[in-house]
Amino acid sequence: MNRGSVCFVPLGHRGLTMAGGSRRRQTETEGERIMKDELVVVGGGGGFIGGHLVADLRRKGFKNIRSVDIKPFDDWYQRFDDVDTQQLDLKDKASSERACEGAHTVYQLAADMGGMGFIEHNKALCMLSVLTNTHMLMAAQKKGVKRFFYSSSACVYNADKQRNYDVTALKEEDAYPAMAEDGYGWEKLFSERMCRHFREDFGLQTRVARFHNVYGPLGTWEGGREKAPAAICRKVIAAKVSGKHEIEIWGDGNQTRSFMYIDDCLKGTQDILASDILEPINLGSSELVSINQLVDIAESIAGVKLNRKYKLDAPKGVNGRNSDNTLIKKLMGWEPSIRLRDGMEKTYRWINDEYTAKYVAGQKRPAYA
Ligand code: NAD
Repeated sequence: MNRGSVCFVPLGHRGLTMAGGSRRRQTETEGERIMKDELVVVGGGGGFIGGHLVADLRRKGFKNIRSVDIKPFDDWYQRFDDVDTQQLDLKDKASSERACEGAHTVYQLAADMGGMGFIEHNKALCMLSVLTNTHMLMAAQKKGVKRFFYSSSACVYNADKQRNYDVTALKEEDAYPAMAEDGYGWEKLFSERMCRHFREDFGLQTRVARFHNVYGPLGTWEGGREKAPAAICRKVIAAKVSGKHEIEIWGDGNQTRSFMYIDDCLKGTQDILASDILEPINLGSSELVSINQLVDIAESIAGVKLNRKYKLDAPKGVNGRNSDNTLIKKLMGWEPSIRLRDGMEKTYRWINDEYTAKYVAGQKRPAYA
């Protein structure tokens, strides 16, 4: 698989950020230095966010990293020779114990997931990730893991609060009373609560972030699991390459979302893991756009204008969803802030390279146009 080359913006890690936002350390402490020798495990390391997380940990000087994924190695987005790379099914208890053996820190990102098209049509598969989360929590506790991060999702939020395009941004308490996204969202909400009870009852130091739509290079851009930013980039590229200046948009294009660039996600994930924030917290951008506006951005990067065809019966999710960042700003003095246009430029360029290598240079016909 040609992964292309990407110019990554290095993250400025500023040390631990504690609850209250006031006790912030600017330089690496002895404790942090020692931590960099401890074993850090990334579950789902063959995936989009997990792959970037492993790469970022390496950049920051972590020397002992284990990356675990169910996928065959050829399908991983990022792999490194100096990382202990293991192909394991973490739904399995013994495999989870193998993954957590000797670990100081676990980032549990493994999940069977994808964009709206995938989660609407694969609710049972999405819910089976509960086995992964259960066994990883049990294994982490058994193996004496010190910190456990769980990647939850904005899909836990109550559907009633997301009926309008002009949505009020979602605060953490809006997950209850619960009416999560069917399948995927309910599993996430249940696993969030498992993290809480493992912490309260067993003392496992769990931390939970609710990711809101993460995007960037080196992630899924075709095949059915891709999310809106990657799908739209691919469709714009395909229209440009084919000369058929048309794009299919799922829904009426007025549905609104926010999208967080991967670099913001990496910083927030590591800072939340290191923090004293015990309850699930939003990790998302608050730059709200409609899907039509997202298409505008991709078109302007590509330098094309396309005829829009709206597929009204396609899966489109809730009408509006945005991240209320009051809490993260209060507790961490920071919020994801990379502009959508800037992140989309990098994403578009990477997908363009992938598309060209696969379909233009190789003269293959795209599976999805
Ligand atoms: P991804 O699909 O690229 O990565 C998930 C990885 O988990 C995949 O590589 C997959 O093979 C692996 N996996 C699935 N089941 C497994 C199993 N049983 N054992 C081992 N590995 C397994 O997705 P991503 O975008 O990198 O998402 C990472 C995490 O963040 C997931 O938990 C996801 O639910 C969460 N999340 C992502 C987004 C987003 O917009 N990308 C939004 C909200 C939450």
